[in-house]
Amino acid sequence: MTDPARQYRRVVNGRYRIRMLAFALACVPIGLHIWPRAYGLGIWALFVVQFLIYPHLLYWRSRTAKDPKRSEASNVIIDSVALGAWAAGLGFPLWISVGLFLTILVNHALTGGLQGILLGLMAFASGALASTALVAFHVSTDTDGLVTLFSIIALAVYLSLIGIESFRYAQQLHQVQSTLDRQKMTLEEANAALHNQIQKIDDLREKLREQANRDSLTGLFNRRYLEGTLERERARCRREGAPLTMLMIDVDHFKMVNDDYGHQAGDEVLRVLGKLLLENARTEDIVCRYGGEEFLLVLPKMPLDIALDRAAQLLKFVQETSVSYGEMRIRTTVSIGVATTPAHADSAEALLKCADKALYQAKARGRN
Ligand code: GH3
Ligand code: MG
Ligand code: MG
Repeated sequence: MTDPARQYRRVVNGRYRIRMLAFALACVPIGLHIWPRAYGLGIWALFVVQFLIYPHLLYWRSRTAKDPKRSEASNVIIDSVALGAWAAGLGFPLWISVGLFLTILVNHALTGGLQGILLGLMAFASGALASTALVAFHVSTDTDGLVTLFSIIALAVYLSLIGIESFRYAQQLHQVQSTLDRQKMTLEEANAALHNQIQKIDDLREKLREQANRDSLTGLFNRRYLEGTLERERARCRREGAPLTMLMIDVDHFKMVNDDYGHQAGDEVLRVLGKLLLENARTEDIVCRYGGEEFLLVLPKMPLDIALDRAAQLLKFVQETSVSYGEMRIRTTVSIGVATTPAHADSAEALLKCADKALYQAKARGRN
């Protein structure tokens, strides 16, 4: 339906049907009008050519034309010139002329609107003038009763069929319009669904990124998250002339917790300790599960003395915490190594080593 060549062919075929019909309808009253007037053989020959051969010739012309639409537009003008000539040639018989004239007007209106009508009028008039020049001007408007009747019937049938054709065309247009509307709606729905999916993918990606930086057991940041973050924090603190302090925390004799209460109970202890660390952290602190039963607190802008106080406080909190696992109540202690920049180290990496060393010393000195 969207192929323009096919559309033109359809227009040409439609016009062909209409033209054949118009000439077939017109030939009855005109034939009946000529018959008793004995105009001679010449006019009958013209009659046959005009009403029986001419419509097919024009069809053939339009079909083979490079631009069928333009060729059809000129066909309508040729129709008008020819029919104007017939009307004048016969002396303007009233009902025949009215029929031909109205047919011309409707055809031109359909193909060219108001401009088409003006063009049709000019073509009809020039056909009439040409015929007058050839045959001499004469007026004899009378038509026989039968001719009048057939003229009116032909006109009525023609106008009705044109009306039906236009109605069908409007219906088709309406159908096309609603199909387009439906397709547009489907497209819009698909578009919305796509946006939805993209949003979901974005959310998932964000979640994945977040998960990649989190430890699944405790929900704390993992070691991987520290990789970029530590250096960044160190640089920030250095810029602001503030210390960066670290608490390396390791559960004492955790192996024994696992051995005595089971691995699951050990997991629960780690979860509870993680929660405790998180609850006691400031918003700017980074709480991280550094390894199996090791945690790391990164404390930007925290001086050593306050950090030591916090470490002592944490020791106390852990000591006072009893982890419930089923019937069991598990108590643990932790050892903490504290280190700070710039007092103990300068780089983030060296700071980590220092904290680790301090932790080792805490373990060696009896833990907790
Ligand atoms: P220390 O006081 O010297 O730190 O002794 P420790 O027993 O805590 O240290 P060690 O390094 O010997 O043992 C750590 C144990 O922690 C061994 C390992 O099975 C356990 N562990 C590591 N990760 C997990 C975990 O995710 N869940 C549980 N339940 N246990 C873990
Ligand atoms: Mg350890
Ligand atoms: Mg340990």
